[in-house]
Formats: sequence, C-alpha cells, structure tokens
Amino acid sequence: MSQSILVKPDTKVLLADYDPDDHGKYDDKDEARGQTERYVERLAELQEVLWAEGKHALLVVFQALDAGGKDGVVEKVMHGVNPQGCYVASFKVPTPEELAHDYLWRVHKVTPRKGTIGIFNRSHYEDVLVVRVHNLVPESVWKPRYDEINDFEKTLADSGATILKFFLHISKEEQKQRFQDRLADPKKNWKFSAGDVEERKYWDDYMRAYEDALSKCSTPWAPWYVVPSNHKWYRDLVVSRTIVETLEKLDMHFPPPLPDADKIVIPD
Ligand code: AMP
Ligand code: MG
Repeated sequence: MSQSILVKPDTKVLLADYDPDDHGKYDDKDEARGQTERYVERLAELQEVLWAEGKHALLVVFQALDAGGKDGVVEKVMHGVNPQGCYVASFKVPTPEELAHDYLWRVHKVTPRKGTIGIFNRSHYEDVLVVRVHNLVPESVWKPRYDEINDFEKTLADSGATILKFFLHISKEEQKQRFQDRLADPKKNWKFSAGDVEERKYWDDYMRAYEDALSKCSTPWAPWYVVPSNHKWYRDLVVSRTIVETLEKLDMHFPPPLPDADKIVIPD
C-alpha cells in the first residue's frame, strides 16, 4: 500500500515508503493522458476566473533531482493556460548580486501577483538542499532556514497566495535510464551535463535533505506532495489533478455583471 502523496504536517517522511513507480488505478498510459488533458482544459477555465476575480494568486513549486521531470511537468500541465496570467521562474546558481542578499530576496521578487499563477522550477528549497548537501554554508546557517521558509510562505499565504509544492520522486535506476536516453539521442544531448553525473554520487545525501525539507516544511498553508514520477503520464495526472482540485476549493467567481450592461450604447 503506497503512502498518501500529501505530506501531513509534522510527520517524518521516509522516501523509501513512497513508491516512485506507483501509477494509482491507471494501468493504461492513454487513459491517464486523456484524463490529464481534461484537467489541463479545466485549469485553463479556472485560470480565467482567477485572473478576472483578481483575489487569489497561485504558487506552484517543483523540486526534483536531475532528470526528475521539472521541465516536462511544466510543459505537460501548464500548456493550456494563458501565458499572460502565468510566469515561470527558474532558480539557478545564485549570481553575485543574489548572494549579496538574503536567500529569499530573489524568490520574493518573483512571487505571483493576485490573479496570476507563478511556477517555480526549483525554488528557495535549494537553500536547504544543494546548499546543505555541498556545505555551501555552515549548518548554523541552513538549519534555521526551515522555520524561516515556513514563515515566508505563511506571509505569502496570508496575502492571498495558495501554495502547492511538488517533489517529483524518481528512483535512482530511473535517473540512470533518463541520463542514458539523453546521451543516446542527439536531440536530447543538450539536456545532459557532466555535472549531473557528479551530483548523482550524492543521491543518498539528497534523499536525506529532501526528507527533512518535506518533514519540516509541509504546512497547512503550503503543503508538500510527493509525486510518484517514474511514469511521466502518472506524474502529470497527479499534478494536474491536485492543482485543479485546489483551485476548485477556492470558490472563485467572475465579478458581478454590470447592472446596466444592456443599456450601454456603444457609439458607431
Ligand atoms: P538546472 O535546473 O539544471 O538548470 O540547474 C540549475 C542549477 O542551479 C542546479 O545545479 C541547482 O542545484 C543550482 N542551484 C539552484 N539554486 C541554488 C542555490 N541557492 N545555491 C546553489 N546552487 C543552486
Ligand atoms: Mg540540470
């Protein structure tokens, strides 16, 4: 029996308990893809109301190891939404200017405004993941960050942001397969970097760092979901379904109709 993908606040996550191969009740890729397409269409409708109402913002965070599927899920799940109301922020190695500020500075600047959807391809969690695994700052610096991140996300939530965080969980074997696929196909070579092989050596350290981030930072206002991601079609289904179900709960409405709309005459 696999775990519920939602991490309950204040529970200790062991990633070994989550099966990255899980595909729920779907055995058939086509069936799952068809269902995902329906969620993608519904998401487009919901985004229009989100935009028109201008009351809520949606922040979707994606984290994963290399080849975990962050780019893929953004394409597959978000391709239906109006680009005008959506923004993707990718977080890379911090620039000197970013490093001269606190670690949340570059993040806070690109959080979504009301009426829009913000997608984070990597995020402030890198500051307790890669930073911790490679000792880029001492433990005394990264350790307080879990609480700081929870406070930061609470501030966003209190100002109208709905936050969803997805960890795309693949197995170590699946990562190897995806690296090999990238090397075998000249059109995919660009996705491969030598650094990825180097990072793979730290797999177990990353697992521990992820377990802590998931355990300490899944809150009622910004929950973490562990998404089984060995099957891309199941990953996309789970993420699209979770986003749609979350937006449905916001009970959003178009602004009320203009009272005199029928009396307004547009001059020739
Ligand atoms: P990619 O997403 O493959 O383009 O790679 C981005 C790289 O930036 C990854 O290797 C991340 O680990 C790295 N990165 C992102 N945020 C940070 C950070 N705060 N500190 C150090 N490295 C980071
Ligand atoms: Mg990479």
